[in-house]
Amino acid sequence: MKEYKYTVIGAGIIGLSIVNELLKKGVIGSDILLVEKENFINLHQTGRNSGVIHSGIYYEYGSEKQKNCLRGYDLMLEYLNKNQIEYKLTGKLIVATNELEVQNLNKLIIKAAKSNIDIDILNVNDLKKYDNRVSGLKAVFVKKTGITDYTKVTECLLKSIIEKMVTIEYNCKPISYNKETSFLKLSNGKVIKTDKIINSSGSNCDYVYEALEEEKSPIKILPFRGEYYSLKPSIKFDIPIYPVPNPDFPFLGIHITPSISGNSSLGPNAILQFKKDSYYKSAFDFSFFIKTIFSIGLVKLIIKYRKVAFKEIYKQSRFSYYEKEVKKYWPSFNQQYIESYFFGLRAQALDSNGLVDDFILINKNNSIYHVLNAPSPAATSCFSIAETIVNQINNIDE
Ligand SMILES: Cc1cc2nc3c(=O)[nH]c(=O)nc-3n(C[C@H](O)[C@H](O)[C@H](O)COP(=O)(O)OP(=O)(O)OC[C@H]3O[C@@H](n4cnc5c(N)ncnc54)[C@H](O)[C@@H]3O)c2cc1C
Repeated sequence: MKEYKYTVIGAGIIGLSIVNELLKKGVIGSDILLVEKENFINLHQTGRNSGVIHSGIYYEYGSEKQKNCLRGYDLMLEYLNKNQIEYKLTGKLIVATNELEVQNLNKLIIKAAKSNIDIDILNVNDLKKYDNRVSGLKAVFVKKTGITDYTKVTECLLKSIIEKMVTIEYNCKPISYNKETSFLKLSNGKVIKTDKIINSSGSNCDYVYEALEEEKSPIKILPFRGEYYSLKPSIKFDIPIYPVPNPDFPFLGIHITPSISGNSSLGPNAILQFKKDSYYKSAFDFSFFIKTIFSIGLVKLIIKYRKVAFKEIYKQSRFSYYEKEVKKYWPSFNQQYIESYFFGLRAQALDSNGLVDDFILINKNNSIYHVLNAPSPAATSCFSIAETIVNQINNIDE
């Protein structure tokens, strides 16, 4: 029987960063197994996102999101520089277009000061100097924001992992783990012995938790579709432009994002989809729907966010609502500017109180580590999340 000291489940940007961190800390490649359910990388969140390197301005001081985003930003730039992966430090605008948004923007200004994030506060005229198509009552320019292509990061990580002889099992999932014997049963029929398992399986981390721990997961992952519209190549933006997010909702609102390839896109919105890992708009899994709809957290969520929830459903059915949201800060926007459509699925945790805002990184018994909530800004934060988990493992082993 094959033996591995470490088994990492899921080859997204988090799983690959964890393998990279183990190797950096001196673990030899042949002691690591990486298990991935698809036949290659980048098929889920890491391959379908906005590509923004976030500053950390939105998150509660001291939260896992704030700490890992601030450190992750620096580690990400270090990795991009070292490996000559293209990125651009653009800064970003957050634009308030009504009185409520001005109040929420003022709260973000306080958060920025607390987290030492350098911003410029802009009035209507200053805003026009950044981009004269954009209008609002008040805005901030966040200096520390960039754009990159996270699939280039994962491709680079994968290449170095392969060079270091890490074993990768594609088309494979964990089935069960015996904590007494350390035997891990895999869906390809193999049984291996492994001391430590790290569950970084994105949208399926709740299922993997239940398979490995043989108990109910403390969270349920809900897939929220984030739809994007690519703008025609002639319509270019140099700076990401964001609305002020609703502070009760863990999504940032429909923004304009320039990509590293030069084109810009609009999006994403956030629509609950009742099927995981499927990129058909009408995808629906009846058993997932039944299990989800009767969860206490979702009932509370629907009651709390009924206004937003209904707006999101409306957005899905009517392009005009999407258009209205964008026109708030880009009044001359028109449908003719759009070239194509695509979407990504966010893996967002729900517990009995509703949507979980912060990252969840837990270790129950010093042998299995779980990343149970790693939505945005987890691509920015991946190297810091990996550092946090590997330090936890090392502290326990010392
Ligand atoms: C629309 C959208 C926009 C976003 N924008 C940004 C942004 O601008 N900046 C930012 O920092 N973050 C952004 N994010 C968040 C970021 O993309 C994710 O947080 C990050 O990619 C999560 O990485 P991951 O490795 O956890 O998940 P994933 O990339 O989803 O990887 C999980 C991997 O686990 C595999 N897997 C699943 N189940 C199993 C199983 N049972 N067994 C084995 N393998 C399994 C999957 O196939 C997949 O390869 C965005 C996300 C979305 C969806």
